[in-house]
Amino acid sequence: MTDTSLRLSFEFFPPKTPAGKANLAGVRDELNKLGPEFFSVTYGAGGSTRDNTRGIVVDYRAAGVSIAPHLSFGGDDEDTMKALLQSYQEAGVDRIVALRGDMPSGMGGAYQMVYANQLVAFIRQHFGDQFQLEVAAYPEVHPEASSYDADLRYLKGKFDAGADSAITQYFYNPDAYFYFMDQCQRQGIDQPIYPGIMPILNYRNLIRFSEGCGAEIPRWLRKRLESYADDSASIKAFGIDLVSELCETLLDNGAPGLHFYTMNQAEPTTTIVRNLERF
Ligand code: FAD
Repeated sequence: MTDTSLRLSFEFFPPKTPAGKANLAGVRDELNKLGPEFFSVTYGAGGSTRDNTRGIVVDYRAAGVSIAPHLSFGGDDEDTMKALLQSYQEAGVDRIVALRGDMPSGMGGAYQMVYANQLVAFIRQHFGDQFQLEVAAYPEVHPEASSYDADLRYLKGKFDAGADSAITQYFYNPDAYFYFMDQCQRQGIDQPIYPGIMPILNYRNLIRFSEGCGAEIPRWLRKRLESYADDSASIKAFGIDLVSELCETLLDNGAPGLHFYTMNQAEPTTTIVRNLERF
């Protein structure tokens, strides 16, 4: 049964080629049938990646789609950031995913990263309540965090600076999320924290990506996926069942909605959302 209080959102990365862009428009139209509250588009700070994100966001806004750019300072100065935010405001964007981001390879010590709480404060200072602000949260702890508690305190700092809600890094162990939610509550965080959901598409990519971002692939899951070797149809079928069950468990136990890392594909996200029969 549809539960209108649950929030659904879908994340894209900006395609680099015209073919990728055309493909993404079709994916967006497919996913739009599921009634998401918004789409979001990732950001690689600086230069062409910055412009790719902005291009997709402005195009989709013009087509009437609710879409939120991810944003980080990267190496940009305050004037560049203000101009970018201004252009988003003029395009009718009303939500931003505010991040510190990661250091692009090859930038070395010249690169000054601005923490997400500082970006949130900057947006609130210059744009008031023009944007709904989402931030990132890490139930399995951010890889650079000095401790669980420190990471939690910094998340609280993002809310204190004016963030409205958070989206988590993906995880496959629902207990990590439930424990995290308890700890957030003890820390005085009462804003909604939406689980980030990564459908399983490809074993090797998943392992590689997870190592970088600190998401844990439990041993049993790793072994299970390994046993399928290159049988991608079996991986996909197994992944749909597993992730659908994960989403059920999360929603049954109070998660306020779901945010899907779609990897710019309509499937398997569509099948998983339809399996849930909640949206
Ligand atoms: P922060 O919240 O600033 O935290 C970064 C680290 O510093 C943490 O270890 C934290 O404990 C610590 N910390 C935080 N504040 C302080 C402080 N004031 N003083 C000292 N230490 C502090 N990356 C991209 O490049 N582009 C994207 O589009 C993108 N989208 C994402 C979307 C989501 C939903 C998520 C969960 C992650 C995304 N990422 C993206 C990855 C993210 O940029 C990285 O995880 C990055 O390393 C941290 O960003 P953050 O905003 O969480 O940083």
